[in-house]
Amino acid sequence: MRNVVIVGSGCAGNTAAIYTGRANLKPLVVSGREPGGQLSITTLVENFPGFPEGIEGPALVESMKQQAQRFGAEYVHGSVIEADLSKRPFRLNIEGEWVETSTLIVASGASARWLGLDSERKLIGHGVSSCATCDGFFFRGKKIMVIGGGDSAMEEAIFLTRFGQEVAIVHRRDQFRASRIMLDRAQQNPKIQWITSAVVDQVFDVEKGQVTGVELRDVRSGRTWQRPVDGLFLALGHIPNTAVFKGQIELDADGYILSKGGARTSVEGVFHAGDVEDRTYRQAITAAGAGCRAAIEAERFLEAEGR
Ligand code: NDP
Repeated sequence: MRNVVIVGSGCAGNTAAIYTGRANLKPLVVSGREPGGQLSITTLVENFPGFPEGIEGPALVESMKQQAQRFGAEYVHGSVIEADLSKRPFRLNIEGEWVETSTLIVASGASARWLGLDSERKLIGHGVSSCATCDGFFFRGKKIMVIGGGDSAMEEAIFLTRFGQEVAIVHRRDQFRASRIMLDRAQQNPKIQWITSAVVDQVFDVEKGQVTGVELRDVRSGRTWQRPVDGLFLALGHIPNTAVFKGQIELDADGYILSKGGARTSVEGVFHAGDVEDRTYRQAITAAGAGCRAAIEAERFLEAEGR
């Protein structure tokens, strides 16, 4: 029987582990399908305070893990495949092994949606990114492409015009999902070019280890052509990793956890931290802050019960 189980080992989960570890709660961290979360697939992180020269994403998240382990956090590989939150202690099935816990911190994140191309996957962190705020700065004076037709694509494209010599939006239809106001704003920006009814079939150049261009295909005519690009930003939406908690914790229509104030969820004793609830900021530092908040709330919750 555990005091606290933390689901997810990104910035939010690791920070929650550091705090609950230091509170002597001996947290168990379930690493999840993407150990280290989104930082583990980035390269240089320049906006996390405390690192004037920046730090590699995987190194940052590994340091957080080691820091948590120093205070007694235990990490287990794998994912929660089943959960019973109907009564306490909560029961979690971690890859076939059931664990009971008094409190639960859900820090399982939201996974960026990708195109699913092999070349795209190989160049993540080398010109392919899902976060303009994080990586836009690296593409000063360069050719940037944003894929998607939603509000994120508009917002990221507008933001990226600060850096790029050109920003092309590629969308698979000629109708946009984005809100009118965001679309208008993007359409009024002279630096943004539009390529509609087109998809990216390939990202170059895997051999060189950096993005140099893409192959595009017109979905109506089938015509293909190549275009030089230095930075490729995917704005295809995110998928919160909450499937296993569906029907137990209140979620919004897109599957994000609905906050009940602070780090509280609809289930007493279950707390949220990071991108699994936050669809707005999605930054390493905000996730870390949310992990701290969830840990303090879990600690106080247990304390109020006399533990
Ligand atoms: P959305 O799901 O709204 O949009 C995703 C876009 O990606 C769609 O245009 C979709 O195309 C496209 N897409 C998805 N999969 C593929 C694929 N495999 N190949 C090519 N294109 C693909 O996600 P967002 O992140 O844009 O927005 C999520 C939510 O957050 C929305 O509710 C949005 O309003 C909100 N938001 C609000 C902002 C604001 O108000 N400032 C800023 C950012 C987000 P298709 O349209 O054809 O399905």
